[in-house]
Amino acid sequence: MSKYWNDRIRSLSPYVPGEQPQNRKFIKLNTNENPYPPSPKVIEAIKKAAGDGLRLYPDPACRELREAVAQTYQVKPEQVFAGNGSDEVLAFAFGAFFGSRDAGPLLFPDITYSFYPVYAGLWGIPFRTVPLTEDFSIRTEGYRTSCGGVIFPNPNAPTGRSLPSKDILSVAEYQEHEGRALIVDEAYIAFGGESAASRIQDHPNLLTIHTLSKAASLAGLRAGFAIGNEGLIQGLCRVRDSFNSYTLDRLALAGAAAAVLDAPYYKGINRKIIATRERVSAALRCLGFEVIPSSANFIFIRSPHRAGAELFAALRDRGILVRHFNKPRIADFLRVSIGTDEDMDAFLDLCGTDPELHGLTRIL
Ligand code: PMP
Repeated sequence: MSKYWNDRIRSLSPYVPGEQPQNRKFIKLNTNENPYPPSPKVIEAIKKAAGDGLRLYPDPACRELREAVAQTYQVKPEQVFAGNGSDEVLAFAFGAFFGSRDAGPLLFPDITYSFYPVYAGLWGIPFRTVPLTEDFSIRTEGYRTSCGGVIFPNPNAPTGRSLPSKDILSVAEYQEHEGRALIVDEAYIAFGGESAASRIQDHPNLLTIHTLSKAASLAGLRAGFAIGNEGLIQGLCRVRDSFNSYTLDRLALAGAAAAVLDAPYYKGINRKIIATRERVSAALRCLGFEVIPSSANFIFIRSPHRAGAELFAALRDRGILVRHFNKPRIADFLRVSIGTDEDMDAFLDLCGTDPELHGLTRIL
């Protein structure tokens, strides 16, 4: 706390990202990074961009990247917005579409990406959370109601559960009549969900938000994008251009465009992640763990023996980092990112054989 902070900054509760360890080597299963390297074409494109051109500002309109996205998703470049990670695109979207004076509260799930309430706080947007069902599914009826707009991830985080497109479109349709936006955060869509991006032509209030951090192995590059009707995209540009016109640098623009265009490479590595996820989920169930069915590159699990905080600490002591959220309903769960088969075997080994983790000492 500093006396120089203004009232707005004093009242914020900022997001706390997962640990990025600096001086100890961990098996890192805590921030949903991709365990496989980016496409060689991405590295090549970045190397090419790392030259004389850095003297000059990057293209503020991010044309090359937007054209690559438009081509891949079969939309128009005017229906694409690019930003410095999807977190930035989300922050701009909250500022652009939610919090009108005449509107009710923004709706999002009680268990979801913990940045949403932070953005709402930053922009002063009133919100109400809608509880997930007992089994952690999103109940779309809860979002077919008058409100100030809706946002949820599909698949949801940190549960990994996904929703069929038809359920999402029913919310889009309802909110379209209400004159409100629906944002679907598709950060994990490549690992098994059904994208709603192709439906933006039918729903002018629907915005899907995407990241290159997970499926494209580029968390370190910081690039994300949104797909939606031209009016929504122009709204995002208005916020960006009232903040920082050059949010993506030349290296990020070149690398991100190359990644978007190399679908075959990424299909290959992400298929491997899905196979590992299914194998690890089955093995954990055999050990008595509860495993929520996941369409993402992580699983959400509960030990039959150990409280979430205890298991998190025991794994950390043994060199494995996972994510624990000390929050109502999910305090006994851990979110475990899917790593290589080797990483996951080390994790399973500990869960199955380490007496302290497995809880055998307590039972005996
Ligand atoms: N949405 C969800 C649901 C996420 O889990 C994350 C990753 N923390 C993001 C968006 C942001 O990803 P990035 O800013 O790296 O694109």
